[in-house]
Amino acid sequence: MDSSSYFDVIVIGAGIMGSCAAYHLSKLNQKTLLLEQFDLLHPLGSSHGHSRTTRLTYPESFYPPLVSLSRSLFLSAESEAGYTVLSPTPQLDMGPLSDLSFKSCIDNSSSTEHTLLDKKSLKERFSGAFDLPEADGWTALETPLGGVLNPTKSVAMFQSLAARHGAVIRDRTEVTGIKKEAALEAVQVLTARGEVLYGKKVIITAGAWAHNLVQSVSGIEIPIEPVHTLICYWKIREGREGELTAAAGFPTFASYGDPYIYGTPCIEYPNLIKIAMHGGIPCDPDRRDWQVGSRAAASLKEPNVNELVDPVVQWISKFMPAHVESSNGPVMTQACMYSMTPDGDFIIDFLGGEFGKDVVVAGGFSGHGFKMGPAVGKILAEMAVQGVAAVPDGVDMGMFSIARFQNNTGGNAKVHAAQVSVHKT
Ligand SMILES: Cc1cc2nc3c(=O)[nH]c(=O)nc-3n(C[C@H](O)[C@H](O)[C@H](O)COP(=O)(O)OP(=O)(O)OC[C@H]3O[C@@H](n4cnc5c(N)ncnc54)[C@H](O)[C@@H]3O)c2cc1C
Repeated sequence: MDSSSYFDVIVIGAGIMGSCAAYHLSKLNQKTLLLEQFDLLHPLGSSHGHSRTTRLTYPESFYPPLVSLSRSLFLSAESEAGYTVLSPTPQLDMGPLSDLSFKSCIDNSSSTEHTLLDKKSLKERFSGAFDLPEADGWTALETPLGGVLNPTKSVAMFQSLAARHGAVIRDRTEVTGIKKEAALEAVQVLTARGEVLYGKKVIITAGAWAHNLVQSVSGIEIPIEPVHTLICYWKIREGREGELTAAAGFPTFASYGDPYIYGTPCIEYPNLIKIAMHGGIPCDPDRRDWQVGSRAAASLKEPNVNELVDPVVQWISKFMPAHVESSNGPVMTQACMYSMTPDGDFIIDFLGGEFGKDVVVAGGFSGHGFKMGPAVGKILAEMAVQGVAAVPDGVDMGMFSIARFQNNTGGNAKVHAAQVSVHKT
């Protein structure tokens, strides 16, 4: 067999998860191949653009340890690369105390540094930018260790570091098949170009394409639904621009309830702030309607057309009216895709079936995975190479298993719904 076709590990999909896996594999001295169906850093999946929030606050207690591990891995990769991808900020979560997700966030933050702010103290803290409703016990939770990650720059950083450590990276290479080659003790990977490659192990990090790829190669159904979503940028009111920047200490933020709204300080575009809704519309990743939800100004007059924009307009007019203009719609929008699982939790597991532990699959990052990419990549590399990963205390890998859907299609039990449900039409 030609040794140029044979690898220790082949990683399929070069978004943040696959790129981080390739980085960790190459640091473990594994002969690694990272394959991407489109151009590297393309805007057709989930890991492109200029901002993703990171935060330690979560309703589920098993995510913060992964966020902490990731943060330290982002920082060490930054020093290896010689440039930064993280802009640290505080994190602000807001919600009514009756909201179980928000309440869980507060409970999970109780043993670490945090401040609870009422309507008045929140106004004083951030130049009057946020106005909490009077009713329902709306409260804000401020914590350190928020921040804005630059996603395209992060993916490029992990890919270039992986290459520096010896990984081979090939784009415009769609994987069309994966077969167990028992005689060679390898997994055969077939590409649309007709190549036949071999990996002792394979990692599938195919984002919104994961369900179809896994189903076609193994017949195994993993419940990952592609969802088209939208990032919106809004004009900051004149005279307020300097107050909403990361440099001025403005936080990354989230507002619990329905809709769940999130935002980042003004960082990418001068005088614009990103505020968007967690949610979207189920889609076919290969046949997307790029206009859905993005008919910004015109759609403000058409009910049910701009379902990804209207809720944000309403939220801004209620929570940030003095600082952000919303009546003319967003100044700019950017389409993206979520890969949703029924419970909003990740899938990180061996594929099983005829592949046993030779194929690891990671997907369903459900609109909140970017901040944990480096930790997920490390776990995937260790699962592939050692058969088991060292995970931080408090993380139960059972929460990410494929088997959790076998007897319960809803997956992990949740006492709250805000981060699980996505607005669908
Ligand atoms: C609008 C939006 C906002 C978000 N905000 C946040 C946030 O604030 N904080 C946060 O933590 N997370 C956030 N997320 C989620 C985060 O971005 C995703 O969880 C993460 O990017 C998923 O990465 P991935 O590598 O799984 O998928 P992707 O980035 O989509 O990568 C999968 C790759 O696999 C490739 N591929 C698929 N099939 C094949 C094949 N057959 N052969 C070869 N290649 C293949 C695809 O082309 C793609 O490049 C957000 C997501 C969106 C869309």
